[in-house]
Amino acid sequence: MKEERSGLLLDEAPGALIVTARSGEILGWSQGAQATFGYPPDEALGRRLDDLIGAPGQFEAEAAPRRVAWDGSLLVHEIVRQRRDGALIYVNMAWRELLDAQGGERRVAISLTDVTHFKLLRDSRLLEARYSELLEPTPDAIVIVNHTGRILLVNEQTEKLFGYGRDELLAAQVEVLLPAGARQGHVGLRREYFKRPRIRPMNNGLELHGLHKDGREFPVEISLCPLNSEVGPLVMTAVRDITERRRAEDKFRSLLESAPDAMVIVDAEGRLVLVNGQTERLFGYRREELLQQPIEILMPERFRGSHPGHRQNYFADPKLRPMGAALELMGRRRDGSEFPVEISLSPLQTEDGNLVSGSIRDITDRRRVERALHDKNIELENANRAKDRFLATMSHELRTPLNAIIGFTGVLLMKLPGPLTAEQEKQLGMVQSSGKHLLSLINDLLDVAKVESGKVEMQLAPLALRPLLEEVADTLRLAAQDKGLALHLELPPTELTVWSDRRALHQILINLLNNGIKYTDRGQVLLRLEAGDAGQARISVLDTGIGIREEDQDKLFNAFAQLATPSGRTRVEGTGLGLYLCSRMAGLLGGSIEFHSRWGEGSRFTLLLPAQPRN
Ligand code: ADP
Repeated sequence: MKEERSGLLLDEAPGALIVTARSGEILGWSQGAQATFGYPPDEALGRRLDDLIGAPGQFEAEAAPRRVAWDGSLLVHEIVRQRRDGALIYVNMAWRELLDAQGGERRVAISLTDVTHFKLLRDSRLLEARYSELLEPTPDAIVIVNHTGRILLVNEQTEKLFGYGRDELLAAQVEVLLPAGARQGHVGLRREYFKRPRIRPMNNGLELHGLHKDGREFPVEISLCPLNSEVGPLVMTAVRDITERRRAEDKFRSLLESAPDAMVIVDAEGRLVLVNGQTERLFGYRREELLQQPIEILMPERFRGSHPGHRQNYFADPKLRPMGAALELMGRRRDGSEFPVEISLSPLQTEDGNLVSGSIRDITDRRRVERALHDKNIELENANRAKDRFLATMSHELRTPLNAIIGFTGVLLMKLPGPLTAEQEKQLGMVQSSGKHLLSLINDLLDVAKVESGKVEMQLAPLALRPLLEEVADTLRLAAQDKGLALHLELPPTELTVWSDRRALHQILINLLNNGIKYTDRGQVLLRLEAGDAGQARISVLDTGIGIREEDQDKLFNAFAQLATPSGRTRVEGTGLGLYLCSRMAGLLGGSIEFHSRWGEGSRFTLLLPAQPRN
């Protein structure tokens, strides 16, 4: 009966009524206690009271004066406690030891009243009187929060920015102003802040957002400032809506993206703070790999050491200019490969300080064109030089036989006609040979002109080589005999047929064989045909002539190459065009000419011809 009555009493008492053992173990838990703290009796009974509703560490100090007066007097104290849902509330706590007449276990009766609302209202009034005049005119939304996370004061900007009336915000948890996803984490961060309060921007590396009453989220920038007051430690939060700035940044970013060049923005320490998609593509990095890295990551290692110095100079006197004007600048991709770049720099003043933006253009293609032009110029210069040399040689070469012709014909004309004297016959012979020489010069020249202008067309057809070689040997047999040289022809037993142009091949072979005879004074000249690999034909002219000095060998196939005549040997008439023409024509036939020669011993020139035309 007694138990029942005390149970009834417990439940009907206004506020929370709790009975504990001296150890703190909960023995009685009223409906009011459940309403205040959220725990039903079966979760509360048997637990230690401080474990159940004790506030986290930093509030312990407040709990300190609470000592149970075992003399039975009543103690009253305002204290922070934690509800089942984690919210901190202010409670007025009164307790008294119950003296047990039967001398049993001593117990403590505790009555708690939630005074959060009154306390917050009181604190808020106090703060309002003190700070509101100060805070109203600031452009930022100001929210003053106490260490339990309750809002005590807001200014008009806050109402405008978040869409709540002042009354709706006062005493509310500050987390109502945060997007749902950020609330949980914020409670912890807020408690950490109160442990080490200092003035600082709120920044955990993430974009911060505010939540408007209508559910809309917007980007914000927040700075925190601790405030000590007689109502306990507070934090003053200044919230700035940065929607506009973000929009401007987005616009800037999309501008960067649409730029045709790789654009990078670098801060005064040389770190990359912004890069566009072209930068990712050009250098082969992903954006995350570049941001906050030193700009030197984009240049070859050998330039990295000196660059910070240049960079600092630039920051000292920033202006729009191309970089490294006279230098060949190189970029370095992630894979280590390098490419030529052109860079222009411009200073950028922003809220985040002085920055530099650089636009980087890959000029590989331009360099290639420049190089090609350069090579072409050299080629043209060489050609011009060759032409000059040609004119000098040619005017001499053409004039000499012409003078002979004019001279001797003049002499012949002055004398009366009649049978030729021995002298006249000799002179006429020279007229004839001069004329022939002029003709061959002119023919060579015309051939060169044709080959050079690409007007020579090869008529490829199956061609039996043995008869062709016999014909070539026959043509020059007399010339060899005149010099007392043996001319041999060495042919394979079976016919060798290639696809070739008869006229061109004939001309090449005449030239090579003629050279062999021209540059040989004793011994023999051999014309040899062999089958090479895969139906290739090898036609060689071997002589036992003067040979070619090693130092002259690589000039041999140049146009107008005429090598110095060995001493004691009369200069042979030539144009220096023969071998040049031969090699060009051999090329047009899909073949090539090789040679091997030893000074004073003789030479071997070999024409290699494919069995089938290439392509
Ligand atoms: P050229 O009309 O002067 O003979 P080529 O182009 O045919 O012009 O030959 C270039 C030079 O190569 C010749 O002037 C000669 O000095 C050298 N040469 C060519 N063939 C031989 C050879 N079989 N033996 C030695 N020297 C040769």
